[in-house]
Amino acid sequence: MRKIIKILLHTLVVLLLTILTQVGGVVWLLYLVIANRTKIFFMGKKIAQHPFVGSGLGRFALHLLGFFALYAVVTFLIVPPLAKYGGRVPLALSATEDFPVKPNNRLFCLANRHYVTPKMYATLQDIAINLKTTNPDFQIVYLDANFPFFDGFPLLPHLSHDNGRKLDIAFIYKDLKTNKATFGKSISNLGYGICELPQKGEYNQAAACAKQGFWMYGFLQKINSRKKRKTTIHEPHTKQLIRKIIRHKDVKKIFLEPHLKTRLGLQNESKIRFHGCHAVRHDDHIHIEI
Ligand SMILES: [Zn+2]
Repeated sequence: MRKIIKILLHTLVVLLLTILTQVGGVVWLLYLVIANRTKIFFMGKKIAQHPFVGSGLGRFALHLLGFFALYAVVTFLIVPPLAKYGGRVPLALSATEDFPVKPNNRLFCLANRHYVTPKMYATLQDIAINLKTTNPDFQIVYLDANFPFFDGFPLLPHLSHDNGRKLDIAFIYKDLKTNKATFGKSISNLGYGICELPQKGEYNQAAACAKQGFWMYGFLQKINSRKKRKTTIHEPHTKQLIRKIIRHKDVKKIFLEPHLKTRLGLQNESKIRFHGCHAVRHDDHIHIEI
């Protein structure tokens, strides 16, 4: 019975790590094999007899540490060259002069959720450098991109992020106190769920979707609705950002909530589409496809 529970637990961990990071499940299995073969932490009697290592909690902590070390090696040294071979490259971990683009949170990178095709990389670089010429402080903040391997493997919860040609980016925000743009920052650690809600008189797509039974559409917003805000969307700079994106020849379409499309005066832009009620609302980020 204990063995069955152990197998079930390991299966659950592998599934969870695969869903979150794509390669994490494989690394977990690899670590189990290595730890079993080498008895990695218990080679010397002195170590094994240490009261901390000898305890269940101590063993668990050391194994966790061992797993994370192996995961980091795989993620930063092995995955990038393999992904490149398969046609995907990682977005940078921080903004530079040549590539003024940064992750909202480096956890996206640690979880291998920052891979795109070289064409998407070049498109993003074109847009970001172009924007930087209008304002040296301009930076694009990216959220979820794609996993490093296999077309058709979705990056949940974004079903369409499965081929390296999709990317979510943050709006440009402004500080509510100073009224100044906060380039290079999004609105929260995650970057999703804190929405620029429809104002009085604006079309409320989320309400329309909820009426049709699509409760998932506004789910993230409901979780985050009580958070106190220090920033809000900077409309002129966000409009500038969106304009630059849709003017790029390689961008096929972007997703944006209908009320923001109207509010920003972009209603005649055919590349800005509505994503459908089966997706999630897009008044907390911009979804780009090439
Ligand atoms: Zn997206």
